[in-house]
Amino acid sequence: MGSRRDCTWILGLPGFRVLTMESDGDAADSRLTIRLERRGLRRYVCSGCGGRTGRVRSTRDRTWDDVPWASHPVTLVDPQRRVRCRRCGIRTERLEFADPKARVTRRLRQQIGLDCQSMPTSHAAVRHGVSWSKARRAERACLAEWDRTRPRKRPRHIGLDEIQRGKGQRFWTVLSDIVHGEVIGLRHDRSEAAATALLTEELTGRQRAAITAACTDMHRPYLNAVATVLPHAEIVFDKFHVLQHASAALDDVRRQEFFRAGAVMREHGRGKRWLLLRRWKTVRGSKRVELQTLFAANRRLFKAYVLREQLDRLWTYTTRPGVLNFVLGWIRALRWQRLPEMERLGDFLFCHIEGIAAYCDHPVRFGVVESINTTIKAVLRRARGMRDEQMLLLKLKWTTAHPIRSARDLARFLSPQGLYSNR
Ligand SMILES: [Zn+2]
Repeated sequence: MGSRRDCTWILGLPGFRVLTMESDGDAADSRLTIRLERRGLRRYVCSGCGGRTGRVRSTRDRTWDDVPWASHPVTLVDPQRRVRCRRCGIRTERLEFADPKARVTRRLRQQIGLDCQSMPTSHAAVRHGVSWSKARRAERACLAEWDRTRPRKRPRHIGLDEIQRGKGQRFWTVLSDIVHGEVIGLRHDRSEAAATALLTEELTGRQRAAITAACTDMHRPYLNAVATVLPHAEIVFDKFHVLQHASAALDDVRRQEFFRAGAVMREHGRGKRWLLLRRWKTVRGSKRVELQTLFAANRRLFKAYVLREQLDRLWTYTTRPGVLNFVLGWIRALRWQRLPEMERLGDFLFCHIEGIAAYCDHPVRFGVVESINTTIKAVLRRARGMRDEQMLLLKLKWTTAHPIRSARDLARFLSPQGLYSNR
């Protein structure tokens, strides 16, 4: 084996040198056991208060898994001291390379944590030769530290949305930053209490003060929560939810028409529901022809379809009177059409005009709300569901914040600089 000096250089733990090295056999994947020794200072850091002391009560050998040397897995052994601190009494010494009570070093922890974000935990555990629970603990510690130490952003626009989890009526409320496209918090239930808790506990006062608009659906408890916690923020209704109501109205028209229609009409309309609910610009080729024949057979359906398509223009106006004029014109076009379902939709739009027109002043990124929902579903699917909510939230934050975008980010994430600070 090389000189101790070389080994210390390869090990690269500041403040420590290699005392002895043993391997359990000559195989290429035999385990290296490296015994460490402090160098330099003879004063140790108390794990309770961070103060330094030189009074050692006892020492005990402890081991940590570390990053492998080529194909050799590595175990570090260090006589960790129990120190007598003036303020805390007897405490263990704090080590720079590992968290208190952790069984892996911080640099290995970072690697496991990173791997767990792109593969199942069981896979990452096998890859690094640790047990599943060790890998999961490492991942949690790594993500928690990242989340704790990153700067807090102050979003202008937030999103408050519900997601359905599992089968049945189990809903969660998701609070997201739709300027940067990140998840901020997660709560069970879609009640006003859940929404209020999210807004008050997950955001600091400084963050809340920066919010000018909240994008939600028309769910009353959310509106109440936003109105009480964020009195200065304006509500912007989510475009997709408004259009969902429009599609539901169109579907009602279709159902009415076919309920009334004769056998010939039924033949035309069978199995056309999804085609009818699709937007015209996404329908191509032969499907367009199908729709056109359907419309030729039924004018009322055609009229309802066109009315729905026109609603897209609600979000192209830049002034509130423009939106109001458009809605009034849209309702006027309904006269004499005998489409009660669409008239109900017109009333609905008129009642919610404030939140729809708020888009003129607060151009919220609607697409981000949808993409966050998709990401949440993808994370849940990859994990085959997740019972640990804290872990799920951390994973969601990581996935949506997408912190590693370049080689430099990766190096900073894995490197000891910053990690080994005792502050
Ligand atoms: Zn202390």
